Amino acid sequence: MFLTVLGCSGSIGGPTSPASGYLVEVEGVAPVVIDMGPGVLGALQRHAVPEDAAILLSHLHADHCLDVPSLLVLRRYGPHSATAGRVPLVGPSGTAYRIGVASAEEPGAVDDLSDTFEVSTWDVTPELKFRDDDDEVALHVRAGRVDHPPESYGLRLTSADGRVLVYSGDTAYGDSVVDLATGADVLLCEASWTHREGHPPGIHMSGIEAGRVAVRAGVGRLVLTHIPPWTDPEAVRAEAATEYTGEILLAEPALRLEI
Ligand SMILES: [Zn+2]
Ligand SMILES: [Zn+2]
Repeated sequence: MFLTVLGCSGSIGGPTSPASGYLVEVEGVAPVVIDMGPGVLGALQRHAVPEDAAILLSHLHADHCLDVPSLLVLRRYGPHSATAGRVPLVGPSGTAYRIGVASAEEPGAVDDLSDTFEVSTWDVTPELKFRDDDDEVALHVRAGRVDHPPESYGLRLTSADGRVLVYSGDTAYGDSVVDLATGADVLLCEASWTHREGHPPGIHMSGIEAGRVAVRAGVGRLVLTHIPPWTDPEAVRAEAATEYTGEILLAEPALRLEI
């Protein structure tokens, strides 16, 4: 299983990175893109055929989903539109409506996505299986609720050979993200600010908290992401290192890891 960072800038796109987006590739199945914030579709074109990708959304904040309407344009009108068919688009409840509103041509209208996407939602379908040509499960995905203002999920991805990648999504520190990440080979974890008293509860984690999740979950490697342009990534990394003694990487565009 390979993880490629498409975008990792927290909350908004930044001067050196699109907003959130990650490509996961497993042999035998179509590419999977997790989150699709502004700028991610451009980066995706450098690494995969965008029309082939299944799209998984952690939540519907703008920085995680607003390039999906652009992908819809590519799938519906682009050079491969005749053969593009439908691909999975999985997200929180309301995904079809929210993306449909963003893609609509008039105020009050909702674009019907069903010509290009097969939409399902984590609240109804919290587990997905991507099967290869031999009908074997090549990639298993489990979504778990995390602590963030809208309906939000972290994702646990397991390859056929048992390797595990966990993506925290956007979340505050707590048991739900620790449980989801338990024993992961790689934890791709948000760390949106440095630690201080007075941050609003139930939104994001500091570097210290991300490190604490990695320790409690016993993960093999920690990749810090969703750091906004106004936050010093090295300060966030240094915080995490006060808790977690394993390898810590900072996400950056085009970073590619074998899980
Ligand atoms: Zn975000
Ligand atoms: Zn968010």
